[in-house]
Amino acid sequence: MKNEKLENILFKQNFSKEDVIYLLSLEEKRDIESLFRKADQVRKDFCGEEVHLRGVIEISNHCDQNCLFCGLRDDNFTVKRYRMEPDEIIETAAKLVKLGIYTIVLKSGEDRKLDTDIIAYIIYSIKKSTNVAITLSLGERGLDEYKTWKIAGADRYILRHESCDSKKYAYYRNKKTHTNRIQQLKYLKRLGYQIGDGTLIGLPLQTIDEIADDMLLFQEMNTDMIAFSPFIPSPFTPFQNKPAGSIELTLKAIAVARLLLKNVHIPATTALDSLDPQGKEKGLNCGANILMPNYTPYPYRESYRIYPNRRDSNSDPFDSHKMLVDRISNIGRDISFSRGDSLRNSSFLHL
Ligand code: SAH
Repeated sequence: MKNEKLENILFKQNFSKEDVIYLLSLEEKRDIESLFRKADQVRKDFCGEEVHLRGVIEISNHCDQNCLFCGLRDDNFTVKRYRMEPDEIIETAAKLVKLGIYTIVLKSGEDRKLDTDIIAYIIYSIKKSTNVAITLSLGERGLDEYKTWKIAGADRYILRHESCDSKKYAYYRNKKTHTNRIQQLKYLKRLGYQIGDGTLIGLPLQTIDEIADDMLLFQEMNTDMIAFSPFIPSPFTPFQNKPAGSIELTLKAIAVARLLLKNVHIPATTALDSLDPQGKEKGLNCGANILMPNYTPYPYRESYRIYPNRRDSNSDPFDSHKMLVDRISNIGRDISFSRGDSLRNSSFLHL
């Protein structure tokens, strides 16, 4: 029998919170397939068949924070800490450009010893000879630092708010505040950064209602990129014995975000691929249009252990590039040859 309520919602252009909760709560296989099919169509209409690759370099795994979910938390004494040298980072970026990757993501823990001017020097050096986009994912930093890095040439900043419930946020992130995170995202947008945000799906105590609020917040913030990762329990963290987030709910979140925000960029995350060998394909088939492969060189890549058994931590990053290209073409999609800048208008005046 046809689910008329679902058909009606899928036909809408604007969605209420109740609609979002309804879609995220779908349980019948046929209904979920309808949702995914619709999200795939919207992705096709607004983003085309291109998959944008964002090449990630994990430049430091030092972290001053103690988030309860993250393997890199300061208290985890089992992590072998590293900080890449500026020249190593610049050389790795140059290799990525040769591979045909047009966005470089510089990612780290919240490492206050990553110096403002050195990061600016790295950004400037990478941009000097190429027109790649640079995305920073360095955690919460000072407002002046964001400005310096923008002037040096950075284009985008990822700061996932993880959970929009401010009490739980303070609990998950060990007393950091949700308000501050959102303020920083707004400031980044005003500086002209394209902003990336996201939610961890399946954090202990999280509800569907909260994930719906996350979606509405992305809409309000005019977010340019949204990532959904299933929570994966990590040893030597307070959440080590908690269950992992659901793959299905993560895929539903991707699909719903696609319906709501139409032309937003959405990755099929590495965490999704680590829990499910077909994670990338599944994500790309229900609304996602970007991948964020990891090109951190040896020996560092083994030590960036946000969670265990990361799918991408063992193989040689440049060998697995070929496999990645095959996985994309096997599902009939094309690799993009552009920077894949935001498709959304850059309005920030209401923020
Ligand atoms: N320190 C930076 C970014 C690096 S961590 C920051 O605070 O923004 C990148 C992302 O890894 C985090 O935003 C979080 O969403 C994800 N992550 C952390 N622990 C995780 C876990 N246990 N399972 C899945 N993803 C996790």
